[in-house]
Amino acid sequence: SGSQRFGTAAALDEPITPPVEVKYTKLLINGQFVDSASGKTFPTLDPRTGEVIAHVSEGDTEDINRAVASARKAFDEGPWPRMTGYERSRILNRFADLIDKHSDELAGLETWDNGKPYEQSALAEVPTLSRLFRYYAGWSDKIHGLVVPADGPHHVQVLHEPIGVAGQIIPWNFPLLMFAWKVGPALACGNTIVLKSAEQTPLTALYAAKLLHEAGLPDGVLNVISGYGPTAGAALANHMDVDKLAFTGSTETGKIVLELAARSNLKPVTLELGGKSPMIILDDADVDKAVELAHFALFFNQGQCCCAGSRTFVHERVYDEFVEKAKARALRRVVGDPFKKGVEQGPQIDDEQFSKVMRYIKSGVNSGATLESGGDRIGNKGYYIQPTIFSNVKDEMEIAKDEIFGPVQSILKFKDIDEVIRRANATHYGLAAGVFTSNIDKANTLTRALRAGTVWVNCFDVFDAAIPFGGYKMSGQGREKGIDSLKNYLQIKAVVTSLKNPAWL
Ligand code: NAD
Repeated sequence: SGSQRFGTAAALDEPITPPVEVKYTKLLINGQFVDSASGKTFPTLDPRTGEVIAHVSEGDTEDINRAVASARKAFDEGPWPRMTGYERSRILNRFADLIDKHSDELAGLETWDNGKPYEQSALAEVPTLSRLFRYYAGWSDKIHGLVVPADGPHHVQVLHEPIGVAGQIIPWNFPLLMFAWKVGPALACGNTIVLKSAEQTPLTALYAAKLLHEAGLPDGVLNVISGYGPTAGAALANHMDVDKLAFTGSTETGKIVLELAARSNLKPVTLELGGKSPMIILDDADVDKAVELAHFALFFNQGQCCCAGSRTFVHERVYDEFVEKAKARALRRVVGDPFKKGVEQGPQIDDEQFSKVMRYIKSGVNSGATLESGGDRIGNKGYYIQPTIFSNVKDEMEIAKDEIFGPVQSILKFKDIDEVIRRANATHYGLAAGVFTSNIDKANTLTRALRAGTVWVNCFDVFDAAIPFGGYKMSGQGREKGIDSLKNYLQIKAVVTSLKNPAWL
């Protein structure tokens, strides 16, 4: 790869100091920042260098117990589930205003802890965060049950009540957005929460939770525990006093938390898991536009997206041109310090993910796929990887089957629509799919036939607040965002009252 040039926007050896300070590193329980019961801390690292940003309190079972007790009390006795929906909406809207006011700090902290480009954090993710909370503020006063007709002289009310204490476990790839997808609907419905952030990215959840308290959230309603999965995460999934569990992460861990939930108190579980989403380019496509969209679908967020378009299926008639242009685009991709302007790709999150991606690149080469570009790390510190493209990828290769979660695009060739439908669906995953065509009939055929929770036509990664998101098959259970997300956080009660003097009888 010596002759290849990736656009690099920064001297990787000299990372820029982020313009943010780390204010909160303790656990947030009952409205207070407190040390962990054990007194232990763990380091959170800068993905640009692997150096320590801060030491953060490490929550474990005892801290989860304290946090659940606080959330339980806030639910059973506190004002949050009892206030009007309008009062809750005012607090959520005030929080959205505070997010906008503190957007620089939030975006800076997100980039520092996660490594994603600052421009992405500041221009896309933080504004999406406040938008999501305004959306859920809008729902707070519109959640109500209904009256249904009865055969006998009965008045029947169907009440929609908050479900109780929600346990929420989130991943590191979109720390703030995952916070919003979980916390937004749970709060709108009047629940209380114990949230466990990802050990790689604990900082922004603490900052956002502090702002929520400034906005007027009562103590104990949202508790945030930083810590590891098998300790703090498992204790939350296993807890007898948690009424509902929501999880985003790997399919493997999803199975573990589902089992813990079943073995403890049968709490209902929503799961947002992995994917191997097809991005299908038909032969009528404008190849330049198709290349750009498929590039975005895969490389966005360093390739660390559960819905990444990680199987690029290209019709044989445009295949060679597509591969050439995809390669040229990858070579132009600007990789560098995520705090620099114009950078499209920062480092991977940590050493473990970096090594995993590098292993998959080797696997692609060994299995006989053609390495068109990339394949190496960039620099000698931090976790930067060259935008990598494989052509001549076959369905049975590991790189076409497993979730790589990195900047590695696999390009596969197909002949006709029936074939590509069969191959696109031949996976245990079913999170998302992309279709690129100007033929409406072909688009409709594909959108109906693809077994995926989201199908994007001539676009990708569109995540408006009202659009439901979730997976078929082993990509998950349930939906987040949109009206469907509210169902995860509501209990339904039928109240049947005998009528002495029924009307109209
Ligand atoms: P993970 O599933 O291990 O971690 C996600 C969350 O679950 C974290 O908060 C973690 O602490 C917690 N967790 C881990 N083990 C747990 C356990 N035994 N009990 C309870 N909670 C537990 O994911 P990861 O290790 O960070 O990444 C591994 C792979 O997962 C990635 O390579 C990628 O394929 C996938 N992933 C998917 C998403 C997504 O959005 N769907 C996000 C991150 C990672």
